[in-house]
Amino acid sequence: MADEQAGVPADLGEAEVRAAKLRSELQHHGWRYYALDAPEISDAAYDALLRELEAIESAYPELVVPDSPTQRVGAPPLSAFEAVAHAERMYSLENAMAPDELDAWLQRVQRESGGRSIGFVCELKIDGSSLALTYEDGTLVRAATRGDGVTGEDVTANVRTIRSVPLRLQLSASDPGTAGRVEVRGEVYMPKASFERLNAEQDEKGLPAFANPRNAAAGAVRQKDPAVTASRDLSTFMYQVATVRALGLTGQRETLGWLREAGFRVNPDIEYCAGPAEVRDFCEKAVARRGDLDYEIDGVVVKVDSFAMQDELGFTAKAPRWAIAFKFPPEEKTTVLRGIRVQVGRTGALTPVAEFDPVLVAGSTIARATLHNEDEIRRKGVLIGDTIIVRKAGDVIPEVVGPVERLRDGSEREWCMRAECPSCGSAVWREEGEVVPRCTNAGCPAQRLERLGHWAARGALDIEGMGPEIIGRLVEQGLLHDVADYYALTFEQLAAVDLGRTKKDGSPVLLGETVAEKLLASIESSKTRQLSRVLFGLGIRHVGATVAEALAGAFGSLDALLVAPEDELARVEQVGPKIAESVRAFADNHENIAIVRRLQSAGVSTIEERKSPEREQTLEGTTWVLTGSLEGLTRDAATAALKALGARVSGSVSKKTTYVVAGADPGSKYDAAIELGVRVLSEAELSEALQSGVVPEAVE
Ligand code: AMP
Ligand code: ZN
Repeated sequence: MADEQAGVPADLGEAEVRAAKLRSELQHHGWRYYALDAPEISDAAYDALLRELEAIESAYPELVVPDSPTQRVGAPPLSAFEAVAHAERMYSLENAMAPDELDAWLQRVQRESGGRSIGFVCELKIDGSSLALTYEDGTLVRAATRGDGVTGEDVTANVRTIRSVPLRLQLSASDPGTAGRVEVRGEVYMPKASFERLNAEQDEKGLPAFANPRNAAAGAVRQKDPAVTASRDLSTFMYQVATVRALGLTGQRETLGWLREAGFRVNPDIEYCAGPAEVRDFCEKAVARRGDLDYEIDGVVVKVDSFAMQDELGFTAKAPRWAIAFKFPPEEKTTVLRGIRVQVGRTGALTPVAEFDPVLVAGSTIARATLHNEDEIRRKGVLIGDTIIVRKAGDVIPEVVGPVERLRDGSEREWCMRAECPSCGSAVWREEGEVVPRCTNAGCPAQRLERLGHWAARGALDIEGMGPEIIGRLVEQGLLHDVADYYALTFEQLAAVDLGRTKKDGSPVLLGETVAEKLLASIESSKTRQLSRVLFGLGIRHVGATVAEALAGAFGSLDALLVAPEDELARVEQVGPKIAESVRAFADNHENIAIVRRLQSAGVSTIEERKSPEREQTLEGTTWVLTGSLEGLTRDAATAALKALGARVSGSVSKKTTYVVAGADPGSKYDAAIELGVRVLSEAELSEALQSGVVPEAVE
């Protein structure tokens, strides 16, 4: 009942007036807080006002308006994002990777201006995800991601939860922005501290960490459930109006001013530069200040200020000519190398990993980096105890650059790889011509853990929730020896897994029924992955994701692959003799075959699903080999078309080959076909078969 709630007016008219007042007051304070970072009232006072409005709106639901500050969260989760065509293309930016490239661009712009003096606006390049906001008659109606620049995704419900995004423009009634459509663009990002916190939470939940704040922001914006986005602490900096001409703005500087007035959050560190010297200066200072900001930047965007001049300069196919992104060199930090640990990979490869004091580099804390192999350590010349320079390659992968030799005090020690496996103590073996030694003990526990982890990993069978910790416990408790064991795990076994920690009362922490249920569901859905993922998951040496795809495409089933002779394997595109030998060696090992059989009887799919819904699989059971050059279609297209009808396409002719298609200048496969009595088809007969789907007579 309305009148029973404290502070809620008993009269509808009164409530309406109060609600409107509260809304404009809350919008003002939200703007002060989220856009200007300059609150006028305490958080507690803001919350009290918000609660009062909520109470009124819940007593009088008819008073709720979509742009009320209470309506940021509340949209139901989505099953998919709708595609949005951008009114104007969202361009990317040309990069200047070094100061001389920036100079060249400045000179070019200067030249093209024919001697007129040009003003620039220098902005920090926020390392987030681009965002386009559309307002109609002053109200936010749509938010979209950049996508490919032409079409993006509709993420309105999620973006509404970001507090610095105004739901209503804060303009006087006479401003042209209050009427019609206005599209504003900028960057949504995650502050460094929030990113660190999020990754710590991910870690606790056993989920993979985000590589950088950019990915984390992009992921948060694309959540199915707006409530998740709301919990991710995102912020925005807006810097562009796509529909700018309608607003009568004449330059970038003016636009930023308009954006500020309209209530958007605009980066405070933007400077107008009257010439190239000032631009260079700004870039230099930005490099130095990079670490002090509470958000990631990866460069400076330099824009020609005047829109008239921008129009003269125009666009290339992918980027404006009137702007350039000056990219920062990778951030480097120093730390102390404490030790080098040898990691055992799933194929037994022993890799030295540098362990150093944790340092924050380019947005995340790192404490280790691979050193690849012993030769690399010698080449870099690092000693244990050295002060070392570290950075992130491609801003993602931690890397040791080298030592700061002058800081040595004589206590540093050289590191040598021991001759035995750190996990099982077996002797290690370094093959001719290879840089890494390997543990050749098939039962090596470290290798087993890696293999099991690899099978469950994202690019392989993707058993969600099956992280290193749980795998380790399952192995310890004797439930997991090889990858086929995943499919024998029961609910009771999983629920009772001891996580090796104790509760306050001293009892052990168990995995529990909820997690067990989730894991079983993930294991179940891993049974229907594509053949290429199964192949990759088996961890055959030299068979990475790309090779696995090539092999899966060529053979269509694991069984066909496992019986293929080495030379047939080697003829598959992207597969050379070395890979073929490794696949053969895997297939010749009866333990491996036993695992494959157990996987198959557990119901793991080991054939390629290649059913095309429109076409019947009339060529099923036939094997085709293509030779010579085809005129009407490429080899890849012919292969795809044959597979779509259920045919197998092989790289070599054998007795099992059903047809050889001979184009112009056929090679040795043609001779082989004649010799083996395999039916040879012309390109015309191939086209005929593809069109009709009818199998030609096999033997003349
Ligand atoms: P890139 O993705 O490296 O081609 O850089 C282009 C992207 O930089 C744009 O799509 C924006 O998302 C982003 N960006 C970040 N800050 C700015 C800024 N101040 N001005 C323009 N673009 C920016
Ligand atoms: Zn070992």
